Amino acid sequence: MKYAIATLGSHSALQILKGAKDEGFRTIAICKSDHAFVYRHFGVADEIIEIPSYSDFHKVEDDLIKRNAILIPHASLITYIDLRVIENMKVLYYGNKRILHWESDRDKQRIWLEKAGLNLPKVFKDPSEIDRLVIVKFQGARGGQGYFLARNEREFRRKIGSAKEYIIQEYIVGIPVYIHYFYSVIRSELELMGFDRRYESNVDGIGRIPANMQRDLKVTYTIVGNFPLMLRESLLPEVFRIGQKVVEASKEICSPGIYGPFCLETVVTPDLKFYVFEISARIVAGTNVFMETSPYALIKHGKPMSTGRRIAVEIREAIEQDRLKEILG
Ligand code: ATP
Repeated sequence: MKYAIATLGSHSALQILKGAKDEGFRTIAICKSDHAFVYRHFGVADEIIEIPSYSDFHKVEDDLIKRNAILIPHASLITYIDLRVIENMKVLYYGNKRILHWESDRDKQRIWLEKAGLNLPKVFKDPSEIDRLVIVKFQGARGGQGYFLARNEREFRRKIGSAKEYIIQEYIVGIPVYIHYFYSVIRSELELMGFDRRYESNVDGIGRIPANMQRDLKVTYTIVGNFPLMLRESLLPEVFRIGQKVVEASKEICSPGIYGPFCLETVVTPDLKFYVFEISARIVAGTNVFMETSPYALIKHGKPMSTGRRIAVEIREAIEQDRLKEILG
C-alpha cells in the first residue's frame, strides 16, 4: 500500500499500529528514545523514528511526508505537542484539526454539548451559589490534580487556597461510564465501539482504608488504567442517541464536524440518566481494553475490530473509494 500509518509512541499507539498492520498498512512509531524499546518489543512498528524529546516532534515532519504517512492523533500527541505545531504540520492527518480547539477549551466544550442537548452537570459561576455537592476543577489540570469536593461556600473557601482560575461543577453521584464511539464518514454511520471505567489513584484506593483514616486525605484522580464494561442493553438506545446528537452539533460548530473515534465521559445516575462531564474528540486510552475487539465491535463487523483497526479500515476504504480528502484535517 502506498500510504503508511504513523503515530506517537504513547497512549494507544500499540492498538493503532497493530490495527493498521492488520489492515495491510506500513506502520511508523515516532518515539522518545527512552520509550522506543517498548514498540520494538511488541513489533507493531515497521519503522521507529526516535526523537530525544517531544519538543523535537516537528523535526520528523519531512520524514513523515516522504513516507506518505497519515498521522493518527491521540491524547499524548495533543498533550505533549503544541497545538500550533500540529496545526501547521503539512503531514497527512486523520481527523478534523479544528475540533481540537473545541475539545481543549472547557467553555467551548460546554457550548458544543449544550447544543447537542445533553444532560450536563450544573456550573456555578460564583461560590456563593453553591447549594449542593460540587467538584472544583482547574484548567489544564492533568489527572485531576488538586481537584476537590465541597458542599457549600465555606468549605469551598477553606479549600481553594490562592487559586484564581477554577470551574465549580455540580458533582453527579452515580457511576462513571466512558462511551467509545466511532463516526464513519465513509459509511455515514455512528458505531458503538465499547465502554470502560477508569482506575484512578488515589480515589479508587481510598475505599480500601477505614473511613476514619480517609478523612484528611486529599483526593486525586490520576488515571492509572481502565476496566472493560458492558452496559445494560436497554441503555443502548440512549447511548446511540446522545452520540448522534454530538455528531450533529459538531457539524454546526465546526464543519465538517467530528469524525473517527471519540468518547463521552459520563456519570450515570440511579434514574439512568447520562450526565456528560467531558468529551474527548479522538481515540481514548479506555479503548485499549479492547485491543483485540469489544463484543459490540465484533458483532457489528463480524470479525475482531479494535478502535485502532477501525481507523485503519476507514482509511483503507477512503483510499479505495478515492475519498481520502474527506477524512484528512
Ligand atoms: P481528562 O484527563 O479526562 O481531561 P481531567 O483531569 O480533566 O481528566 P476529569 O476527567 O474532568 O479530569 O475528572 C476527573 C475525575 O472526576 C473522573 O474520575 C470523573 O469521573 C470525576 N468527575 C469529573 N467531573 C465530575 C462530575 N461533574 N460529577 C462526578 N464526577 C466527576
